[in-house]
Amino acid sequence: MSDDTHIRLVLPGPVEVRREILEAQAAWQIGHRQPVFADLFARLQEKLKQVFLTQNRVYVSGSSGSGLWEAAIRCSVRDDKRVLHLTSGAFSERWADVSRANGKQVDVLSVDWGKAFTPEMVADALKKQHYDAVCLVHNETSTGVTNPVAAIGEVVRQYDDTLFLVDTVSGWLGAALRVDEWGIDVALSSSQKAFALPPGIAFAAVSDRVLARAQEIPHRGYYFDFLVLEKYLKKNNTPSTPPTALMWAADLQLDAILAEGLENRWARHLKMRDMAHQWAQERNFGLYAQDGYRSPTVTTVHNTRGVDVNEMAAFMLEKGFAIDRGYGKIRGTTFRIAHMGDMQPATLEEVLAAFDEFLNTN
Ligand SMILES: *Cc1c(COP(=O)(O)O)cnc(C)c1O
Repeated sequence: MSDDTHIRLVLPGPVEVRREILEAQAAWQIGHRQPVFADLFARLQEKLKQVFLTQNRVYVSGSSGSGLWEAAIRCSVRDDKRVLHLTSGAFSERWADVSRANGKQVDVLSVDWGKAFTPEMVADALKKQHYDAVCLVHNETSTGVTNPVAAIGEVVRQYDDTLFLVDTVSGWLGAALRVDEWGIDVALSSSQKAFALPPGIAFAAVSDRVLARAQEIPHRGYYFDFLVLEKYLKKNNTPSTPPTALMWAADLQLDAILAEGLENRWARHLKMRDMAHQWAQERNFGLYAQDGYRSPTVTTVHNTRGVDVNEMAAFMLEKGFAIDRGYGKIRGTTFRIAHMGDMQPATLEEVLAAFDEFLNTN
């Protein structure tokens, strides 16, 4: 790994990974039916429960997070029942598409991009119609909005038969998340965002209620069937060949995260969020996300100065930073400053100084 060619990722996923974590992947190969794997898996299991703040099991999937969208839907929503998707940006909309692609009956409750959901909106929707599941994105990465998961969970919890499925792909390990306390039945995430691992491995904390529901659904597929994963998890194993290199990396990274402390990690992200806000506002940019719901892991800057984001990205690349140019329909009218994973405030300062250099010369 040459340092000369190292471009630091300031993207809202995939993010920069520390060299020590990259190197952990270079361990000698192991067979996943050997005892050494069961030990690794059991260790991961204990640490994953600690960082999801859950007593539930945490499945480990050799996929990105999108795979677990399918898993959560296929195991939670019966054929003759409906699912409610709360959509407010590119990722929440895509999850609804995934449910449709799996043949589920989907209703959508949406708010404008940049806005957050309120518990009242969800309460109204649940009064009108039974849903097998409510799907919410914790941290909408496209818009930089963090939804009030705890308050919405409280509403969903009032309905015994309605499962609460939460995508926390870009929130988990950066923004506060308490799976058991917030009544979350599935909390799914992947490795390459706030966890700061390479891509290719995903995680889902899954409640007993979901496993009971899955029993009532005949066609759940195989690769992402929680009941199959459960059978193997009990033996500290996986049904198919797992990404062991990434698991060594996860093992080491979880130690680092537990040593930092979850609350400290959340606080570090809030501090970087505030730095990004201050930088943007002092330079007469807007903040795209609704006040009060702005993400600790990614700031979506409203490009009110009309800077050419392509030119800016090219400039930043010269400085050794890969930056984002906005996502989907708001590309260019916004750009995003990612401050997730293991990024430290000092690095964000360097990034912001490089942005300033661009603004001062253009
Ligand atoms: C990146 C992202 C996804 C997709 O995750 P993959 O790991 O790329 O499949 C889903 N939801 C959110 C909120 C994301 O940010």
